[in-house]
Amino acid sequence: MAVLIQGMPKIGIIGGSGFYSLIEGARGEDVETEYGRPSSGVSLGKVNSIEVAFIARHGEGHTIPPHKVPYKANIAALEDLGVERIISTNAVGSLRPSYKPGELALFDQFVNTTHGRDDTFFHGPEVVHVSLAEPYCSELRAIASGMGVEHRSGTVIVVDGPRFSTKAESRWYSAYAEMINMTQYPEVALAREKGICYLGIAAVTDYDAGLEGNPDAKPVTYDEVRGRFSADMARLKQLISAMVVKVPENRACGCGDSLEGARAGP
Ligand SMILES: [Zn+2]
Repeated sequence: MAVLIQGMPKIGIIGGSGFYSLIEGARGEDVETEYGRPSSGVSLGKVNSIEVAFIARHGEGHTIPPHKVPYKANIAALEDLGVERIISTNAVGSLRPSYKPGELALFDQFVNTTHGRDDTFFHGPEVVHVSLAEPYCSELRAIASGMGVEHRSGTVIVVDGPRFSTKAESRWYSAYAEMINMTQYPEVALAREKGICYLGIAAVTDYDAGLEGNPDAKPVTYDEVRGRFSADMARLKQLISAMVVKVPENRACGCGDSLEGARAGP
């Protein structure tokens, strides 16, 4: 457990290592949780004068693939530091022509297809069934909605990866979701179990396996994702910087009460 009393951050950021430069006066904290070490050291500092804690989801040098991200340690590390709200950034593939590369979107729903990931803090004897009917924090989404994002809502389908989709898979997924990603699950669900607000901001980087009937929408390559995400980084930084000063001191969203009525047993 980290022992920081003064200047404890209430806002956590999980995203690409490009965000290190966003944090003023950053100091690295080597954190160990009961679930192991997070993906990276936790970078503590200020964004737009607001105390934040940042974790690079794939490690400082992008060495951790999506299915190996220590999701529980990342969430637990932020919780130990006093974080009540998490803003996450995510590269996504588009499954619909209306979600274009270069645009930003806010997730409001997800569909999970991953398997074998450790996706709960409650393996017994304490048994908990949290509600994820509305998995993303309504308060944080409302704040980000007013800040020039192209899509205020959208469903993301979460796949294991690390490979990209076949055309048939992509067509199938497009019936259920606008976007595809490899890391939203279980990150968002674990945050809910800890009563932490969670906002998922998506940067659309590509068209997954291409779009039916649209020869210009070519299947994605990783180089394309990396290049596009770097280009979006400036917008994401601007958005987060503008957001953090609008986040009210006290929460009115109910995310913190996620365990009420969710516990099994006598
Ligand atoms: Zn909330």
